[in-house]
Parts: sequence; structure tokens; C-alpha cells
Amino acid sequence: AHFIHPPRPIYRFNPGGKVPLSLKRKGLRIVVTGGAGFVGSHLVDRLIERGDSVIVVDNFFTGNKDNVMHHFGKSNFELIRHDVVKPLLLEVDQIYHLACPASPVHYKYNPTNVVGTLNMLGLAKRVGARFLLTSTSEVYGDPLQHPQVETYWGNVNPIGVRSCYDEGKRTAETLTMDYHRGAGVEVRIARIFNTYGPRMCIDDGRVVSNFVAQALRKEPMTVYGDGKQTRSFQYVSDLVDGLMRLMEGEHVGPFNLGNPGEFTMLELAQVVQETIDPDAKIEFRPNTEDDPHKRKPDITKAKNLLGWEPKVALRNGLPMMVSDFRRRIFGDHKDNSV
Ligand code: NAD
Ligand code: UDP
Ligand code: UDP
Repeated sequence: AHFIHPPRPIYRFNPGGKVPLSLKRKGLRIVVTGGAGFVGSHLVDRLIERGDSVIVVDNFFTGNKDNVMHHFGKSNFELIRHDVVKPLLLEVDQIYHLACPASPVHYKYNPTNVVGTLNMLGLAKRVGARFLLTSTSEVYGDPLQHPQVETYWGNVNPIGVRSCYDEGKRTAETLTMDYHRGAGVEVRIARIFNTYGPRMCIDDGRVVSNFVAQALRKEPMTVYGDGKQTRSFQYVSDLVDGLMRLMEGEHVGPFNLGNPGEFTMLELAQVVQETIDPDAKIEFRPNTEDDPHKRKPDITKAKNLLGWEPKVALRNGLPMMVSDFRRRIFGDHKDNSV
């Protein structure tokens, strides 16, 4: 990456036009990397619904064709099997960069966050597209500040078992800001807090999917450690709304996108019991190394600058995820439209 180019004009694909393409609402050409995944596929639904042309780029590492199958055959939808670690040539207006081995059991040893992000920034630079990075609350590590504000620099162990993900996303943020400052790429950064909903990977080891699948299968819910650690859980439609506002808005970020409702893992287990099975059992297991003790977003910045805040409380969102999990665990058909 050599920053020898001057900042890109945003009129690049709109010669003679008055409205900068990046500000036009309809008919944009949009790449969603990781678009066959959990969050990506919900974002794709909304973009297609809005009338944009969407190209999903995914290597199906953790994502699944089933998640976007309901768009096959539409003229404004394309699916490309591609690993973003390899260069990619496309002509587009916006890039939502979600591709990432996102869950603990999948993310080790993968260069997607660094090399994949570099390639997508290179693409954005070449074609003058606006680039949105889906970073994570994990950049705050095991935070010493609570709740976490965007100005907090975090407390991350660079050599720990989770650092491939944490540090990978921190590097991705650095690259994003470097391309912004050095090459004039229009960028947006979202720091996403724990998100749940339909189409979540069933066996990826995350707490909400584990508890829901376990309770449905009549297995005990596995609480790691003493279960007093906290997380804040956001329903996926709220996140997608935030991502789109961020992309369309005028602010680079980073912005925390999460639901400030904070729960201990024991409280979460209780909500799952109330939703699925009051008799569901709890089983304690040793916790993983470097597990953050608490996490809760301060979303003042997103509220003020994007006019965004989450609308779906855990007790309302969980049942929608449970019906999807029930269908996928016990049903036999593969239509994942929700
Ligand atoms: P996901 O695993 O469902 O989606 C990620 C998608 O990226 C998958 O479809 C996967 O196949 C694809 N992918 C992975 N490596 C790739 C590569 N090299 N080339 C092309 N495609 C690749 O996870 P998700 O929960 O939908 O996460 C989406 C984004 O949001 C990720 O960047 C993740 O880090 C971020 N995020 C999610 C959460 C959450 O709670 N879900 C929290 C913080 C951040
Ligand atoms: N890249 C890409 N698609 C493009 C343009 C660039 O995948 O349309 C990749 C390119 O292969 C390189 C990375 O993005 O690995 C960074 O590109 P940039 O032009 O910023 O860096 P340089 O190639 O000058 O080092
Ligand atoms: N956790 C748990 N039981 C599980 C899976 C996870 O108690 O079956 C805990 C885990 O130790 C962590 C919290 O739930 O404290 C959230 O874990 P997850 O992997 O879902 O998200 P992250 O740690 O990335 O926030």
C-alpha cells in the first residue's frame, strides 16, 4: 500500500451528474463481503429491499448459501464465492466489509482481518467506493472503563488466545484510517457489540446460540466460570439499521453499535429458561482464558450523530431467534428467509 495517489474524487462514476454517487439513495452497486453470514445476510435483505444492486462476496467459511438463497434469480443480486485474502476486481459504489471468521472456534490462524481488509481498502481506493468496516467491541479487550466509550483505547493482551481476533480487528481499524488519511478513501467504522438473531451459526460456541440450542435439545446450558461476567446483547435488525445509517451518514466513526441492556450469563440463562423451557438445567464449566469480565456500550455518539438507538429488548428478540433455531434444529427444509 503506497499512498502516492491524491484523494479520490467522489464523482468518479458520475461524470456530468450533480449529485455525488455516494450520496444517492437508490440504485447503488454495493459489495457485502461476508454477506452469506449471519449479520451480512440480514443486511443484504435490507439493501435488496431498498432497490440496490448487491454483490455478496463470501468463501462460505462460516457463512452459508442458504442464508441468501431466497435472493437467487433476482436481477439485482449476485453471489461470488471468493476469499477476500485474494485480490478482487469489481466496480462498485459502496463496500460493507464484514468478512471475518467471527466466532472463537473459527477465527484462529486466519489472515482475513489484515490481508482481506487491505484488499477491500485497495478496491475502495481504486474505484472511489465508500468503505465500511465492521469492527468489534473486542478492540476494548478486558475493559478497564465501563461502559465503553469510543475514545477508550482498550486493554488487550497481544499474545493471548483471543488476540488473533482482537488485534486483527484493531489492525483492520488502523488500515482503514490509514487509507482514509493517506489515500482519501471515504471510510466508516462500526464497533459491534454482541449480536444475536435468526441465522446465527448454531454450533459456533457463542453464548446465545449455545444456550438456545442447548435448551431446545434438552441439554444443560453451559455457563463458563461463575456466570457473573456481563455482556450486552443486540438484536440483529437494530445492528443492520445502525450499519446502514453509518454508511449513509457523514461521520467516519468509530461508532459503538450495541444494546446497552447488560446481562450476566446467569441472567441470560434465566431469560432463555423463560423463553424456551423453565426446567432447562445449568451446568458450570471452566471459563476460557482472557475472558472479558464485563462489556456494555456507551452509545451516546451514535444517538447524537446517527440518530440511532436499538429498539428490540432481549426478551422480545430472543423468541424470534428461538423459532428460527427450532426450525433449523428440528425441521428439514432449508429456506432461511425470515
Ligand atoms: P459470520 O461468521 O456469520 O459471518 C462472517 C462471514 O464472512 C461468513 O459468511 C464467512 O463465510 C465469511 N468469511 C470469512 N472469512 C472470509 C474470507 N476470507 N473471504 C470471504 N468471506 C469470508 O459472522 P457475523 O456474526 O455475521 O459477523 C459479521 C461481522 O460482524 C464480522 O466482521 C464480525 O467480526 C463482526 N462482529 C459481529 C459480532 C456479533 O456478535 N455477531 C460482534 C462484533 C463484530
Ligand atoms: N486490490 C484489490 N482490488 C482492487 C485494488 C486493489 O484486491 O481493485 C488489492 C491489491 O491487490 C493490494 C491491496 O488491495 O493487495 C492494496 O492495494 P493498494 O493499491 O492500496 O496497494 P499497492 O498495491 O499499491 O501496494
Ligand atoms: N459463555 C458461556 N457459555 C457458553 C459460551 C460462552 O458462559 O456456552 C460465556 C463466555 O465465557 C463469555 C460470554 O459467555 O463470558 C460471551 O461469550 P461469547 O463467545 O458469546 O462472546 P464474546 O466473549 O466474544 O463476547
